[in-house]
Amino acid sequence: MNKLMRIAVDGPSGAGKSTIAKAVAKRLGIDYIDTGAMYRAIGYKMSVEGIDAGDTERLESMLKDTDIDFVRGDIILDGRVVSDVIRTPEMSRAASVCSALPAVRAKLVEIQRGMGAKKSVIMDGRDIGSNVLKDAEYKFFLTASPEERAQRRYEELVGKGEDVTFEQVLADIKERDHRDTTRKLNPLIKTEDAVEIDSTGLSIDEVTEKMIKEIR
Ligand code: C5P
Repeated sequence: MNKLMRIAVDGPSGAGKSTIAKAVAKRLGIDYIDTGAMYRAIGYKMSVEGIDAGDTERLESMLKDTDIDFVRGDIILDGRVVSDVIRTPEMSRAASVCSALPAVRAKLVEIQRGMGAKKSVIMDGRDIGSNVLKDAEYKFFLTASPEERAQRRYEELVGKGEDVTFEQVLADIKERDHRDTTRKLNPLIKTEDAVEIDSTGLSIDEVTEKMIKEIR
């Protein structure tokens, strides 16, 4: 049996992690796992069920009753495709808030480790190289300036018909950066063994090529 290959991609919001990880997955013929989508799905379920972040009892019982999986690139929450409903500015915030809760992280990290134990994967998030797949064969830390990340997110949201301004998106990105890097539990950090790629001014193809080159 071939040895598993696990690739960890971490970095701040809007650095292009999911686009690049998807492209690399396709080139290498391995699965792509979007861990941010998993936090978004939990944030979504909390908001639908009206569960407060401080209500540990309801939160824990909800988590016990929650099933998350990926099928052909779609994220499935309790049997229902939620890929689109989790991609709103509200759900970005809900994900960022719920990702600081220990019960939520414990549940999702366990599922993520299970996914990385069975097959070769490229997984993106904030704590993949530092926590979820500490022994990943390849680790990348993808960055870009806050302005460039905000510009990309802004264009994506406007393209989907969302009513936002560039300033709002930039403020949102900076707020999430702050929360993600300062939280106590598994904050976003670049590990020493990760290869850093700054995607500012680079195209998707150029960044993908850089990663593939490192892996080969
Ligand atoms: O990557 P994405 O922007 O979809 O992630 C949504 C939120 O989920 C992030 O702002 C971050 O707070 C959280 N997250 C996390 N750990 C991960 C992936 C995402 O805390 N591994």
